[in-house]
Amino acid sequence: MSEHSNTPETPAIQPRHVFSSLPKYAAGKPPTPVEGLKQYKLSSNENPHGPIPEVARILADFDATHRYPDPLSTKLRTALAHHLGVDAHNIVTGAGSLGALNQILKAFAGASLDGTQDEVIYAWRSFEAYPILVGLLGAKSVQIPNLPNGAHDLNAMAQAVTDRTRVILVCTPNNPTGPAVTEAQMREFLTKIPENVVVVIDEAYYEFCTASTVPAGQNAPVNGLNLLNDHPNVIVLRTFSKAQGLAGLRVGYSVSHPQLTQYLRVAATPFAVTALAEAAAVASIEHEEAVMDGVRHIVAERERVVARLHELGYNIPQTYANFVWLPLGEHTEAFNKLAASHALSVRAFDGEGVRVSIGEDEANDRFISICEQFPHRV
Ligand SMILES: *Cc1c(COP(=O)(O)O)cnc(C)c1O
Repeated sequence: MSEHSNTPETPAIQPRHVFSSLPKYAAGKPPTPVEGLKQYKLSSNENPHGPIPEVARILADFDATHRYPDPLSTKLRTALAHHLGVDAHNIVTGAGSLGALNQILKAFAGASLDGTQDEVIYAWRSFEAYPILVGLLGAKSVQIPNLPNGAHDLNAMAQAVTDRTRVILVCTPNNPTGPAVTEAQMREFLTKIPENVVVVIDEAYYEFCTASTVPAGQNAPVNGLNLLNDHPNVIVLRTFSKAQGLAGLRVGYSVSHPQLTQYLRVAATPFAVTALAEAAAVASIEHEEAVMDGVRHIVAERERVVARLHELGYNIPQTYANFVWLPLGEHTEAFNKLAASHALSVRAFDGEGVRVSIGEDEANDRFISICEQFPHRV
């Protein structure tokens, strides 16, 4: 090594101050191999069956890799506008809904010139990416603990609003706990939020809600699009990563009032949505029924898993997504190890619980058998 090389002890280049307090994104891990067992990854809420054949064909035939994509994703926004019944001007695409969320936070949350931090309120535990994106921009995370049943504490979230609050993130269904917010709850919440605060409704699992049967006496999960006309401060986030099985292609979008989209377009990374991702997304919209057939199968599998967990005495929160949450507390790591020894990877949050994605039918069978063997209940 030359005398000019930097060792980790004497780094010459330092990142911005905020880096010292950022949590690391721990992506769902692949399973560890076990002799004689097929491995299954149940740690990232992916669609185990991948894109539908009509979309897979488009991916195989794609021949414009040498061309830049349309920076405005015009074909995709046009297809979405028709499909969702909104104006194409109200849609901004991004590299996954994370890309779209990043545009929103870049546009509306950071630090003022005098160094005071903007505040971003969200439930916790919720999507792991939130604290990282918020922190990177120099804004302050205000995390409101979930209710004991894993649902957002919307009253406490509304009460946490200050004159520094710029953005509120509502994750419905909540990743990793599963409960969803209803339209009535969301409308009541919005009456308490100042109109200059942006309210993001992250609906990454929306299709799994519409495919779910709502239990008697309960109300259906919100469709954020219904709120946009009454609330110009609302932004709805959706993605093609989960239901459509395109997580690896990175395409998602937001829908909001043009008063907001004008800033999101400025904040967007140019060419973030590739032409390949755009073509796959458009085809997924054109073949919605085939996509929803796959979603309905996953939801039926989820209901099979949930019913068995109830029989076994697990007390788990209601889930409207493609995963279940086992609030195992101190037994979390033991469950994680047991799953790993059966070639299943799950998402463990140490000391809190385990999120397990609904996967291939055989993977779900194996998950159930692990739950049968596990000595602790929640
Ligand atoms: C998976 C997920 C996303 C989607 O991320 P993409 O960037 O679209 O892949 C967004 N929000 C939540 C809550 C998620 O669980």
